Order: sequence, then structure tokens, then C-alpha cells
Amino acid sequence: MFLHDPPRAGGESMSITGTMPLDAQGVHHGFFKLPYSRDDSAWGSVMIPVTVIANGDGPTALLTGANHGDEYEGPVALQELAVTLRAEEITGRVIILPMMNLPAFAEGSRCSPIDGANMNRSFPGRADGTVTQKICHYIAAELVPLADIVLDFHSGGRTLDFLPFAAAHILDDKAQEAACIAAMQAFNAPYSVRMLEIDAAGMFDTEVENQGKTFVTTELGGAGTATARSVGIARKGIRNLLIHAGILAGDVQKEPTIQLDMPDDRCFVFSQHAGLIDYLVDLGDMVKAGQAIARIWPADRTGVPAITYHALRDGILTARHVPGLVKIGDFVALVAEVISETPASK
Ligand code: ZN
Repeated sequence: MFLHDPPRAGGESMSITGTMPLDAQGVHHGFFKLPYSRDDSAWGSVMIPVTVIANGDGPTALLTGANHGDEYEGPVALQELAVTLRAEEITGRVIILPMMNLPAFAEGSRCSPIDGANMNRSFPGRADGTVTQKICHYIAAELVPLADIVLDFHSGGRTLDFLPFAAAHILDDKAQEAACIAAMQAFNAPYSVRMLEIDAAGMFDTEVENQGKTFVTTELGGAGTATARSVGIARKGIRNLLIHAGILAGDVQKEPTIQLDMPDDRCFVFSQHAGLIDYLVDLGDMVKAGQAIARIWPADRTGVPAITYHALRDGILTARHVPGLVKIGDFVALVAEVISETPASK
């Protein structure tokens, strides 16, 4: 009987409700409220912060951070945007979700502490699913359809570190792919990647692309924190993307960016051993196929030689494991192919 259940809106669609309108002109700060009944709050809710800024008729940008809760460039840059962007500066609408996966963000963890789910493997979600599935469903069914362009911030979290890059995926629809690549170039991170996913199923990226939208993602750093440099890249990228989309006036601020490609799975090196990792190259170093890139020492005894891991292709060390210990099956290295350097004048 309803006495024991939290109040909820009727209908299949949504247990999540917004505390503010999505279509009103001006600046509105509020929450997406998801009923979450639990021991310490019987009629409690997960409150996901959101800011909507709208002015006149124009495109809509959806900007999201903390899809994984331990990645911080998106939350920092989007919190700043939510208090600095004025309605009269824009034409159209900007929907800002700095902490889309609020439960994971509050815990400082990649996955949700409520249901253990990885949000970026849980799309398109379920209206009647777990907390993570419900958030995914709401975003996929209610927010993505409003958007013309979507920017989802990632970085390496606590267990990866990346060269700072913006990325677009190779898509079947070549017009859509070209729009995504143009938006990635407008974001203008120091590196720009045509990205191959290890497993695209359930990703926010895939859902947004399947809805025909222009999508840009990033990997701006990692190791469980953000830096002045990585947040600066995020801040400039947001502004450039809003200008590119026609929402913000001004000129896209272009600096040289190095184009990278991930043509096949020889880009990835994974560990078949547990132990103490000893990198022989650092992020940004050029490597050759067959070159030793890391050794793994035993973590539990002396007198045993290290196991050496080698690059499987020529390229640039684009991502690595953190911190110092690895387990069997852990990611060790991403070696991306360097395509070209785009001059600043482009
Ligand atoms: Zn991530």
C-alpha cells in the first residue's frame, strides 16, 4: 500500500521530476529529484543538481560531468559555467549537469555506491530499474531529445591517466560523424582523437549518437584529481563548443592540436600479471612497435625478474594505469597513432 512507499508521479515515464522548468527563459538552478527510499530516509530522494539557461530560439546544448564520479574537470568547469553564463549572452539553451551521476560523485567513486552500476555501461537505462538505470533513462528519454549537441566530460578517474584529448567516434552516418568531428575540433583540446571503444554497449556516447545528435567526449587527465591545466582545457572547450554550436557569440579560440587515431585493438596493452608497475615511458612519449614500455615486478618477493610489456604498434603513449600496483587484467597502456598536427591558423 502507498503508505510505505514514497510519493511518486504516475505513469511509466518518470519517477524523476525536475524542480524547475526546462523551457523557461532566463537562468534556473534546481534539481532532478529521484525518489530513493532507504534506511536513513524512508521518503528520501537523490537530488541531481541542474542549471538551465535559455534565451530566445536557438540550439540546445547538454553539458554533462561526473558520468563517472571520480573525474573532476567536468564538474569544476560546469559549476563555474552555471554561475557565470548569463542568459543574455546566449541564443538558445544550455542544460548543465555538472554531477550527472551524483551518488558516485558524492562517494568519489567511478561506479554508483547504491547499485554498483557503471553509469556509462547502463544506457539507455530503465524507468523501473535501479537508481543508476533510472537516471540513465531520464537523461536518455527526457534530456537528450531536447539537445542538438551533447558534451560529456571524462578523464581517467582514480585508475587511469590520459593525455588531454577530445574525442569523436567513427559512425555509420558519415554526415553525423563529420558534425561530431567538427565539434571535437572546435573543443580544441591539445589532442583530438578518432576513438575506438573497448566496448561501446551501454555507453552514453552510443545512446546520444543513436539519437542522431552531435556528440563530443573528452579524456582530460586523471589520477583521481583535476589540475589547473586540465580544468583550463575544459573551460576553453566549453566556450569553443557553445560558439561552434551558435549558442554563444564570438570566435572559437584555436591552438595547435595533435590528431590521434585508434585504428584497432593493437592500441591497447593489458596486464596478464599482478604486481608493481614500472613504466619505462611517460604520457606523450613516442614509442615503436615492440618497444618495452613497462615492467611488472613481483609485489610479494625479491629475487624474481620483472615481466616486460611491449607496445603493439608505433604511436604516442596516450593513457596509462595509476596508481603503482596492477592486477591481472588491468589496463596498462594506450598507444595511439599520430596522424597530424593541425596548425593554429586552421
Ligand atoms: Zn569516465
